[in-house]
This record gives sequence, structure tokens and C-alpha cells, in this order.
Amino acid sequence: MNIVVIGAGTMGNGIAHLCAQHGHSVSLVDISEASLSKGIATITGNLDRQVKKEVISNDDKHAILGRINASTDLTQSAANADLIIEAATEQKNVKIALFQQAQTTAKPECIFASNTSSISITELGAATNRPDKFIGMHFFNPVPVMKLCEIVRGFATSDETYHIIFDLAKQLSKVPVTVQDYPGFISNRILMPMINEAVYCLMEGIASAEDIDTVMKLGMAHPMGPLTLADFIGLDVCLSIMEVLHDGLGDSKYRACPLLRKMVAAGHLGRKSGKGFYDYSQGS
Ligand code: NAD
Repeated sequence: MNIVVIGAGTMGNGIAHLCAQHGHSVSLVDISEASLSKGIATITGNLDRQVKKEVISNDDKHAILGRINASTDLTQSAANADLIIEAATEQKNVKIALFQQAQTTAKPECIFASNTSSISITELGAATNRPDKFIGMHFFNPVPVMKLCEIVRGFATSDETYHIIFDLAKQLSKVPVTVQDYPGFISNRILMPMINEAVYCLMEGIASAEDIDTVMKLGMAHPMGPLTLADFIGLDVCLSIMEVLHDGLGDSKYRACPLLRKMVAAGHLGRKSGKGFYDYSQGS
């Protein structure tokens, strides 16, 4: 397939790497030249690691890189695409503008997919000229490693589009799970309220952050405690997903914990800001 991946950030470069490794031609498109260079450098570094671990050969690495072309011109790249996977910044108006730009040159049969974590696939699809060919492909970070892909069916997604994308996810060595388009899909609908509850436990002084994480690691066999995970995801991202659940489902059980709000307001966003539930100022 000819695949356009929009956004060369954390998720986009991983999706481009994955698709090229499985034989597809990829155009990696970003608005920023710097993001593109950084994205290609990340892919190269990750491929080097795969060569070192003997997952792929050095020839494979060069062939994979040869299948990825970086561009800032979405209109031109979209013209040859069979599939466009959007992994740009999590803002509805940015995503809609990108799909509307792509549809000016994309073939009528080209499928549009979004990797959004929290925006309605139905709403994004309805803003394009092909809601039947619009679907969610929700990958997980790091994309080349994490096995899951939530395939999100919008209200108008056709059976044909769904089957093509479900089969593609399998061809990409992922385990696809079919999800209907409701806020948070399955992953964040379950994960974020758990993280939010962990923040309530901390706010109410029930236990320390370390002890809350230890309970979930040693008692429930989670590889990472919820507060460590929240720091990893970013507290601003956790808060905005809780707001999407609260707005979209209207149930008070999804209200964001006041401590989470306070920490975001204070700029304590987790790893990326150096401080969250834990201190990262001396490295990890
Ligand atoms: P990121 O900030 O790392 O990357 C976003 C990229 O989009 C940047 O390189 C930016 O330059 C680019 N971009 C912004 N506006 C653009 C435009 N108009 N045209 C082209 N490129 C543009 O973000 P990310 O973490 O990779 O997230 C991308 C998407 O994936 C979001 O929708 C997010 O919700 C979703 N997602 C993220 C994760 C995660 O763990 N980070 C997991 C699953 C899904």
C-alpha cells in the first residue's frame, strides 16, 4: 500500500516505521521540517537497535528507510495514497483541516484513519467527503513494540473499510480489537478512571504515591503503578481525556480529581516537565 502518515512526532514516526517494516511505501508528512528530521532520526535509531538485537538485518534496515519518504507537502503526498493515517497534534480543528486538505487530491477510494486518543471518529469522519471510508486506528506507544491496535468504527464507517483496516492491522503484526466510537474507546475508558482514582487516593491521604503504585504493581501485577504511568503519559493529557469522558458520557463518576487539575495548573505535568507525582529533575 502507499501510506501517508501525518505527524512525525512520538506516534507518527512509530507508525511510519511499522508500516515500512511490513513492506508498505510511506510518506511521512509534518508541518515542521525539524519534526521530520527528528522523526527520521528516531526511526533510524530504533532500526539500529533492531539490527543490534538481530531482529532485522542491516540490509533490511536500509530497505525499510528506503521505503520512507519525508515531506512537508500533504497535498502532493495525498494524491498517491491508498491510506492516510493521521497522527498530528490532538486538536479537533487541526485534524479536520488536515483531512480537508488531503481530500482535495486524495483518490476517492483512499481510506482516512486517525490515531486520535480522544476525539470522536464519527465527528472527524463527518467533516470529510468520505465518512464511510473513515476509521480510527488507535496505536500505543512505542508503536513498533506495543501489540494492540484499537480499530474504532465511526457511525458511518462501512464494513468494507473496517475489514480492510482490520486485516491491515494484522498484516502489521498487531492484535486488532474492534471498538465502537464512544468517548475513550476501551483503553482510556478503563485506564483513565483508574489513574484518576489513584490521584483521589493520594489527595485523600490514604497512602503515599509510592505505596499506591506498589499496591497496583505487586497486588495486581501491573508492570507500572498508575501514578508512574500518569507521569509517563503527561498529567495534562490525562486531565484532557478525563474531561472528554465527563463531557461525552455525562456521568459524575468521570469527574477529574481536583489534585490532578491543581498539578496541571502548576505545570507539574510528569516526566516531560521534570516533575509530576515523582521528581525527574535528576533524570529518570
Ligand atoms: P506529538 O506532539 O509527539 O507529535 C505531533 C506531530 O504533529 C508534531 O511533529 C507536529 O509538528 C505535527 N503537526 C502538528 N500540526 C500539524 C499539521 N497541521 N500538519 C502536519 N503535522 C502537524 O504527538 P503524539 O504523542 O505523537 O500524538 C499524536 C496523536 O496520537 C494524537 O492524536 C494523540 O492523541 C495520539 N496518541 C498518542 C499516544 C501517545 O502515547 N503519545 C498514544 C495513542 C494515540
